Amino acid sequence: MFIYNLDLPEIEKTLITWGEPSYRALQIWQGLYQNFHNSASQFSNLPKSLREKMTLELGFSGMEPVRFLDSSDGQTRKTLFKLHDDHLVETVLMRYNKRRTLCISTQVGCAMGCVFCATGQMGFKRNLTSGEIVAQVMYYARLLQAEGQAVTNIVVMGMGEPFHNYDNTMAASDRFNNSEGFNFGARRFTISTVGLVPMIKRFSNEKRQVNLAISLHAADDDLRLSMMPVNKRYNIDELLDACREYVEKTGRRITFEWALINGVNDTPEQARKLGMRLKGLLCHVNAIPLNPTKGYEGKSTTHERAIKFKEILEKAGVPCTIRIRRGIDIQAGCGQLAGRSF
Ligand code: SF4
Repeated sequence: MFIYNLDLPEIEKTLITWGEPSYRALQIWQGLYQNFHNSASQFSNLPKSLREKMTLELGFSGMEPVRFLDSSDGQTRKTLFKLHDDHLVETVLMRYNKRRTLCISTQVGCAMGCVFCATGQMGFKRNLTSGEIVAQVMYYARLLQAEGQAVTNIVVMGMGEPFHNYDNTMAASDRFNNSEGFNFGARRFTISTVGLVPMIKRFSNEKRQVNLAISLHAADDDLRLSMMPVNKRYNIDELLDACREYVEKTGRRITFEWALINGVNDTPEQARKLGMRLKGLLCHVNAIPLNPTKGYEGKSTTHERAIKFKEILEKAGVPCTIRIRRGIDIQAGCGQLAGRSF
């Protein structure tokens, strides 16, 4: 059993079946999520017999870091992990001033098929378990701890559609949030979805403190459908209705992601349509110049067009930030993760 798949009560149950006192569960939990141990031998506060049993019964090695690449400015690191069944996933660390933001994956590949995204271009292989999602963060937490630093933000924008693997993503979120372990504030955790409407509704009803981002990328259905097949299932009206419901139920601001593609969705017309659609909604638009991928010929916007886009939106009363592209020289930017060796 991969140890990161277990939550605290499950560790307790396992210990009881082994005839161990249940208080040991918290010691194991804290070893994993406060000290970031990654082998049974590091739990020096546990008896040797229990450490041996853990080594035999609880795997620490379901996710091996096999390679990493640093961007030329040294601010971005992409790590390739090999899973127990030889599938590969990627996780990215971005350093901005004092921030240490992780972009994590929830699936091997992705079924959503967004045309501009390298993960979408590879198709869907399988869901990650909650433990495989958690282990990506613990790996970087350990690495940063060795530098006297810590993970400050987590964004679920790596490989996969998190709402297509809802239960495991939320189980991982709960494990990060657990106050006796990693104690990571839900408000520093952002989940990004292409807009699976039933899951947005479920998420709204659960009233989690986690931030929600929607990959929107187009302000009319024809254009969005040409980029994102999911729009056939849930069109923009349905999606924005679910977003309004989310804001009403939670009182939380929603973020819309927009990859600016030259001459496609960075036009004044798209900006005006978007402004009209989002007017009055508690939201923010994160626009990011498109990152190149092999399977898509669209080009990134220009600086001037991006500024114009932002101006039009802001005139319509919709706040917009143009984000800086990060790590594109190592294919670690948004939409560039492809889970293959590099
Ligand atoms: S952008 Fe996200 S949802 Fe779309 S194909 Fe890529 S990983 Fe999947």
